[in-house]
Amino acid sequence: MSNFSRRKFLTTATVSAAGALVLKACGNPPTDTASNTGGTTTAASPADAGASPAAPTAAAGAVETTAIKLGFIPIVESAPLIIAKEKGFFAKHGMADVEVAKQANWGAARDNVEIGSAGGGIDGGQWQMPMPYMISEGLITKNNNKIPMYVLVQLNTQGNGIAIANKHEGKNIGLDLKGAKDYIQGLKKANTPFKLAYTFPKANQDLWVRYWLAAAGINPDQDVNLLTVPAAQTVANMKTGSMDGFSTGDPWPYRIVGDGIGFLAALTADIWPDHPEEYLAIRADWVDKNPKATKALLMAIMEAQQWCDKQENREEMAKILAKPAYFNLKPEILAGPFKGDYKMGDNKPEVKDIKKTVMYWKDGRGSVSYPYKSHDLWFLTESVRWGFLPKDTLANAKATIDKVNREDLWKEAAKELGVAAADIPASTSRGKETFFDGKVFDPENPQAYLDSLAIKKI
Ligand code: CA
Repeated sequence: MSNFSRRKFLTTATVSAAGALVLKACGNPPTDTASNTGGTTTAASPADAGASPAAPTAAAGAVETTAIKLGFIPIVESAPLIIAKEKGFFAKHGMADVEVAKQANWGAARDNVEIGSAGGGIDGGQWQMPMPYMISEGLITKNNNKIPMYVLVQLNTQGNGIAIANKHEGKNIGLDLKGAKDYIQGLKKANTPFKLAYTFPKANQDLWVRYWLAAAGINPDQDVNLLTVPAAQTVANMKTGSMDGFSTGDPWPYRIVGDGIGFLAALTADIWPDHPEEYLAIRADWVDKNPKATKALLMAIMEAQQWCDKQENREEMAKILAKPAYFNLKPEILAGPFKGDYKMGDNKPEVKDIKKTVMYWKDGRGSVSYPYKSHDLWFLTESVRWGFLPKDTLANAKATIDKVNREDLWKEAAKELGVAAADIPASTSRGKETFFDGKVFDPENPQAYLDSLAIKKI
């Protein structure tokens, strides 16, 4: 982190004992796994706190609480949350009691945020889009309860891929699927439809595979079978043949190639270079009640994102993420994707391109961390495209996004952290977005984008 913010925080005192007492009195949630929705485990404390470069320097009483429980899914998207914890950035900003809690799957994360940490769940964490919107609107919660959420930070761009089982080698299944269209449609006609999995319906991975298929004239609702499989179970499901392909975050697609059971058809970095991926979103009631703690969290995550983006840190990052409490795998599996090195398999050339790796702070288009409203609009537009959200979503999109997307809080935190003005976007729109098939999404005219797409449900 910059000397500027370090100096700034060194002028303040350390967290008081009184603050810790208040927390206990407020009934800090238990750290066991007894939540009624299951799937939450609390990650271990930093293994070696002494090695942390970031000592606590935040002001006593400056934050309303030092604790929050944030959910994560074991894919590279979660790295800023885990690194902020393990490298001491949360503690440095006065958030000494942040828990990062592994979620069994996205459905468990959704259920846990609905009950909140007071009920043994979580206050927020890592989300695919537009999950925070669907939770806010009560579209995917139990009994359609509306749980207002705020989108606060984009955690990463890129870092996802589509993996295919070995039995489909040699069938032209790559980024451009046109050469495989007859084969895939033929499987459907033969009553052995191509089964393609994502990790949660109506969100990123579902949208990536749908975009990819439709660009080649393959109708995702008619020509293939789509299903949901948790990220960490994708390897097992591919082995048993219960699915032919899947899309999720690294390192799982890459691991398929490493384990010799499949190949990579496409990197999402090729479908849409520098594409938005996953986000930090927290319950609005928590943020409204704890504005200073929210700002501290955002500053810590921004520092973690800067750390994560440095290539010289990525070996250490792989070792941290690989731990049993987090991804529970060999760090070597993360090494390739963290350098933009992907063995594709299926006689495709190996990718060695640093521009294809997951990015956390800056990418080819500028800020990663800043949550652009124009990207939220793309996710809502694409949801309309597939009939996941009603058509009038677009007419009301601005009001909907203004309610959920709190880029204003991001900017406040970035300024306080001392982020260079050049790294704080001046507009809430990143401008036009171009996809691999040449289609363009202009945030000024989402309807024109929808009109340009041949396959859609509306
Ligand atoms: Ca993802």
